[in-house]
Order: sequence, then C-alpha cells, then structure tokens
Amino acid sequence: MYDAIVAGLGGMGSAAAYHLASRGKKVLGLERHAPAHDKGSSHGESRIIRQAYFEGAEYVPLLFRAYELWEELEEETGEDLVTLCGGLMIGPEDGELVSGSVASADEHGLPYEMLDSSELKRRFPVFEPGPETVALFEKRAGFVRPEAALRTHLDRAAALGAELRFGEPVLSWEATGSGARVRTEGGVYEAERLVVSAGAWAGELLSDLGLPLGVTRQILFWFRPRGGIQAFAPDLLPIWIYEPDDGNMFYSFPAVDGANTVKAAFFRADGTPTDPNTIDRVVHDDEVDFIRSYLGRHVPAMDGELVEAKTCMYTNTPDQHFVVSAHPDYPQVLVAAGFSGHGYKFCSVIGEILADLAVEGGTRHPVGLFSPARLR
Ligand SMILES: Cc1cc2nc3c(=O)[nH]c(=O)nc-3n(C[C@H](O)[C@H](O)[C@H](O)COP(=O)(O)OP(=O)(O)OC[C@H]3O[C@@H](n4cnc5c(N)ncnc54)[C@H](O)[C@@H]3O)c2cc1C
Repeated sequence: MYDAIVAGLGGMGSAAAYHLASRGKKVLGLERHAPAHDKGSSHGESRIIRQAYFEGAEYVPLLFRAYELWEELEEETGEDLVTLCGGLMIGPEDGELVSGSVASADEHGLPYEMLDSSELKRRFPVFEPGPETVALFEKRAGFVRPEAALRTHLDRAAALGAELRFGEPVLSWEATGSGARVRTEGGVYEAERLVVSAGAWAGELLSDLGLPLGVTRQILFWFRPRGGIQAFAPDLLPIWIYEPDDGNMFYSFPAVDGANTVKAAFFRADGTPTDPNTIDRVVHDDEVDFIRSYLGRHVPAMDGELVEAKTCMYTNTPDQHFVVSAHPDYPQVLVAAGFSGHGYKFCSVIGEILADLAVEGGTRHPVGLFSPARLR
C-alpha cells in the first residue's frame, strides 16, 4: 500500500513524485518508457520559460512560483537547469503575441522593454523585421533544460524514498473506496491517491472523463546557421518567439553549450493530429521546406544546413489551457493533462500543486482556469 501512485513520470509526473516524496509520502512512480525518454513531450534540450504571458495573465502568479521552485531545485542539487538569457516576443503590435505579453506584464508589473523595428534590427541583427514589427524584450525569460530537469526531479524523488519503475505502463486503474488500484503487467498496486500525468496518453488513461484532448505531432529542427554561429551566442541573442502576420508562431533558442546549431520549431501552427502509439517519427521534406520558408524570410541566417530533426507531441485542449484538478467523480485521483504546448516551464509548480491536492485536498495556487468542468 502506497500513499500515492504517479502514473507517467514525464515532466509533470517526475515533479509530482518529487514533491510528494519530499513531504514524506510513500510514492510509487510507474512509467511506460525509460527515464527522460524522447517518445513523449519533454525532450529536445530546451524549453522556453518567460513571465510576460500572452496565453493569459492568470498564469503569471504560477510563473513566479515556478521560477522560485526551479531555483530551489538548482540550489538543492547543484544542477544547471534554467538559463535566463532574456526573451523577445516579436510581431505586430496588435498581434496576439505582443499585445497579450504586454497586457500580462502590465497587469503584474513585470519589467520589459519595447523595441521598434529598427531598434530590434540594430540590437539583434539576425532578424529581418518588417517596418510594422515590434518586440517586447523581457530580461527574465530564457530556457529550461527538460531532460536534466526531469532527471533531477526523478533522482531527488528516488533519494527521498520514492520507488520508480520504468518500462511498466499502467494498463488500467479503478477507484477503491477512498483510494485507487492500478494494474500493470507486473502486478496490482494500491494507494491512497493516484496522480495521472500521462501526457499524450492521458486520453487513454482518463477515457472515463471524456476530455476533448487532441494530440498533435510537432517537429524540432536544428539548423547550422549560414555565416557562422557567433551571432547566435547566448550573450548576443535571447530566446525568441516570432509571430508574422499569418497567425502562426515560430521560435528559437540561442546556441548553448558550444553547439554549432540552433533549434527552431513552430509554436502555434497546425500540428498534424496523431496517435502517441503510432506517431510517424520521420520528418518529411515538405515539413523542412515549411519552416525554411519562415526562417528564410524573417531570420535568413538560420536557413542553413539542417543537421537534425525530431518529433514530439502536444496534447491540446480546445482553449489551450491546462487540466489540473481532482477527478470530478473520484477526488482521490488527481489529473494533470492537456498542457497544450506550453507546459514545461510550469512543471516545478504543477508538481507542487499535485502534491497539495493529494496531501491537503486543495491548493493555495490559482487553478480555477484548469478545471475540467469548463471542457464538458
Ligand atoms: C516540440 C515541443 C516544444 C515545446 N516547447 C515548450 C516550451 O518552449 N516551453 C514550455 O513551457 N513548454 C513547451 N512544450 C510543452 C511541454 O514540453 C509539455 O507541456 C510538457 O512536456 C508536458 O509534460 P507531461 O508530463 O504532460 O508529458 P510527458 O513529459 O510526455 O510525460 C508523460 C509521461 O507519461 C508516460 N506514460 C504515458 N502513458 C503511461 C501509462 N499508461 N503508464 C505509465 N506511464 C505512461 C509517458 O511515457 C511520459 O513519460 C513543448 C512541447 C513540444 C512537444
């Protein structure tokens, strides 16, 4: 008998296992794949972290706490998990990205700088902005290292006594009075609480909830810039998200750890609907051409040799807000799903929230936006 079982030890589940174990709970973690694998949603070296949040000002208080918790984890372990190299949100002034980032920053008194097109080009010459393009520059943006952060959460959880089993998928679960019973090929386990944090597989494990989750195939590309890597060094270039005038958004990171490539991907653009069990892992020429058409026009030096490409998955809700809540029918079951392509930066605080819900039956954090009731 465990205090809590965590089903899915990816970004969110590893953080939940750590927070539960750090509160002295007897934790069993069950994971379908290996630790920090590349078959879910939490791989590919880097994830953007920022506080001016166009997706909604409601996220900002959670981001304050997420930053604090990432820092605490770094201090506790000596690991280098977060790099605050600054961030640029680039696009039309009235576009979703810039106007939403400005609104959330103003509402929460976040410091930022606005750059017009010529100032953007002067300070960051890799961009070819149109005359109407502006940018919000936020100093306290940057990136998290997802594999390192995930492993750190797992290692700390294990050091605090959590039992973590890999290559052991949860096949089914059922509520039992005030607890839950979980079945795998290896056995049957019982606990007072169950956390379901199965990423792209959440729809399978939570089919009873009928959440409208759509899984999409997303691609990460690594290009070797034309003209050398120097202009992409982290002391010269922050992370950035670019919204041209067609509603799509693409983004990139500086070249870190001596890399001679830079990563680019679409953030908001139609991802291909997929099934996590049968996803096509081959990246096709037309997909490379599509991102090249954006890089070539807006950041031409990045349109160099393609060195690597990898697939990843978003699990989207219709409104792109998360689902973090007690199960409406079984309060002993906690759900973390639908992170809609912007969840990684929050893993630290979502882990804390899941532990709050499991241990206290509630949380001081504002999670009303994440209720599954809104999606029914
Ligand atoms: C290409 C890409 C770029 C992104 N960029 C950013 C970004 O810049 N900033 C940002 O904040 N976010 C970003 N995100 C989003 C972020 O990475 C995700 O929101 C986050 O990783 C989701 O974490 P998760 O724990 O829900 O999923 P995962 O980390 O995939 O974890 C789910 C885990 O559950 C396991 N599992 C599934 N089913 C079972 C089962 N039955 N039994 C046991 N285990 C099971 C899986 O194997 C997996 O390990 C990006 C996502 C992608 C794909």
